[in-house]
Amino acid sequence: MAVAPLYKTQELKIYNSISGQKETFTPITDGNIGMYVCGPTVYSNVHLGNCRTFISFDLVFRYLKHLGYKVRYVRNITDAGHLENDADDGEDKVAKKARLEQLEPMEIVQRYTLDFHSVMNNFNTIPPSIEPTATGHIVEQIEIIKTIIDNGFAYVSNGSVYFDVQKFNETNDYGKLSGRNLEDMIANTRELAAQSDKKNPQDFALWKKAEPQHIMRWPSPWSDGFPGWHLECTAMSTKYLGERFDIHGGGMDLKFPHHECEIAQGEAACGQTPVNYWMHANMLTLNGKKMSKSTGNTISPAELFTGENNILDKPFHPSIVRFFMMQAHYRSILDFSNEALEASEKGFYRLMDSLKTLKGLDTQSKTEGFDVTKWKEECYSSMNDDFNSPILIAKLFEAVKFINTVKEQKATITPEDLLTLSETLQGFIFDVLGLVNIHETSADTSDKLSGVVELLINLRAEARANKDFATSDKIRDELHAMGIQLKDSREGTTFSVN
Ligand code: AMP
Ligand code: ZN
Repeated sequence: MAVAPLYKTQELKIYNSISGQKETFTPITDGNIGMYVCGPTVYSNVHLGNCRTFISFDLVFRYLKHLGYKVRYVRNITDAGHLENDADDGEDKVAKKARLEQLEPMEIVQRYTLDFHSVMNNFNTIPPSIEPTATGHIVEQIEIIKTIIDNGFAYVSNGSVYFDVQKFNETNDYGKLSGRNLEDMIANTRELAAQSDKKNPQDFALWKKAEPQHIMRWPSPWSDGFPGWHLECTAMSTKYLGERFDIHGGGMDLKFPHHECEIAQGEAACGQTPVNYWMHANMLTLNGKKMSKSTGNTISPAELFTGENNILDKPFHPSIVRFFMMQAHYRSILDFSNEALEASEKGFYRLMDSLKTLKGLDTQSKTEGFDVTKWKEECYSSMNDDFNSPILIAKLFEAVKFINTVKEQKATITPEDLLTLSETLQGFIFDVLGLVNIHETSADTSDKLSGVVELLINLRAEARANKDFATSDKIRDELHAMGIQLKDSREGTTFSVN
């Protein structure tokens, strides 16, 4: 008989940003989940703040898969349409970088997409199921604009198309995600600039007519131009996940205007709200301020891994940085500091060491000093409570403490409980939290080292058989100089490392 998937017995609760409450999660189609996360704008190297958001959603992706759901995870690459200052005017971020570096915009896109993938790989994140680009979906974006115009929620002005926020708000609620009210927004905005094509300052661009110097442009029924920043996510999520899907995520700073506009576009085009559960990850700060490239308050992943920076005392392995991030809940602000990372490093090794200790534990006929079944349930409850990884990690450390007590023979464990403990720990540490065992990586390296020394031992034996003593002595002496001793005996040659 097939084992029922875990989600059948676990009640997952997700904090839904739109209701401001934790809600029991029910997918639209039983056993299947559609999840969309706003990806990076690839005009520069990702910074650690961006990484935190993507690592947070990697935890979500991993846990949903762990529960047995089939997840289609779509995370886009923004390679056009994102203008400076996240506004409707100004230069395209990618095009600006291309101009400054005298490269093609697509060279910029390629360079920083590769960097993004490599950093995500360093952090052991699982790639999304689909990673679509804005420039690859211009046709779909144009089709959505046509529908929104046909439905009466957008107007053409001077070759550009704008979303009519006031018209939309007559029948729908613009501001429901960010908790804003259109009347207040109108009261708090200055007059429109005289040259603006917009009817109202709250309106946002769906299509922009390109100025002569704007190089990233496509033909459309309205002008040669480019899509508005918010539209790509509506086009790509609808195409791959449908008009209505389960989860939409992104950083907290995207709630307004980006996600508010996505809701408006989806409702205006499809007549239904696009997303059931909105999730927002909180910011990474450095010295108490939001980490951001534009203010210079930033540290890059590369600087962190190599230790070449003025903020930290030494380099940190990506898995330790990941563990540090998992020790905070995704909805809490996380501040980055040397002390916090060092504390995480100690904790990380304690956790990994306990896995080794576990392998050598003796078992008894009774478990005493710990309730393994209850502990396992509590591990799941913590993750079911809106992916509470810090509580999960505290639970894992309770197990570490127990393992050490068994080792000191002050408590006992049965073989069945040992198996449950071991499988649960490994499942949460590696599959759910996505950590990598650095000790095991070095064990792998030492296996390779043994292979290389064996090879040299065989070459030395061959040299000796050929009476080439100069070579055989050279191999022995040079290995000796590196701290590797060869020992000859009747059974053959063995080696030891100092
Ligand atoms: P961008 O490339 O600017 O479009 O940002 C990519 C993602 O990183 C978005 O989801 C942002 O919300 C997120 N992000 C930007 N800065 C930070 C930060 N300091 N901490 C956490 N997430 C951030
Ligand atoms: Zn988006």
